[in-house]
Amino acid sequence: MNLKRVLGLDILADRYAYADDAVTGYTSAKRVPDRWVPTTCGYCSVGCGMFIGVKNGRAVSVRGNADHPVNAGVLCPKGLSEHETIHADSRATHPLFRPSKKSKIYRVGWEDAIQSSPPLGPAACASGAGRA
Ligand code: SF4
Repeated sequence: MNLKRVLGLDILADRYAYADDAVTGYTSAKRVPDRWVPTTCGYCSVGCGMFIGVKNGRAVSVRGNADHPVNAGVLCPKGLSEHETIHADSRATHPLFRPSKKSKIYRVGWEDAIQSSPPLGPAACASGAGRA
């Protein structure tokens, strides 16, 4: 920590700067997207409609879709944090396979995962869903 920070003179203005988004109004400057992409929340089976805010190819924010019949623009805390999980280091981005409960989990291709899932059961193949 630098001296200005210790003395309270460094307020981390770059980190906490705000801006005026055309859709959501005043918000963190880091969360103002270049464009909003319509999608469906993938956290649970409710399937709320949402928009992901994308800036320089990265998801930076999320908002509910007011015209969606399921949620009418309202999102729960998990949905509101959806953009945070997309780039999480621990997010599984490929199928994982564990032949038995005592085996290690290892990476497999999508075709192998799809082919082997039904006879082995859903517990044998994990895509990362439900681990949040
Ligand atoms: S916003 Fe919440 S309730 Fe809606 S689909 Fe996502 S996790 Fe489920």
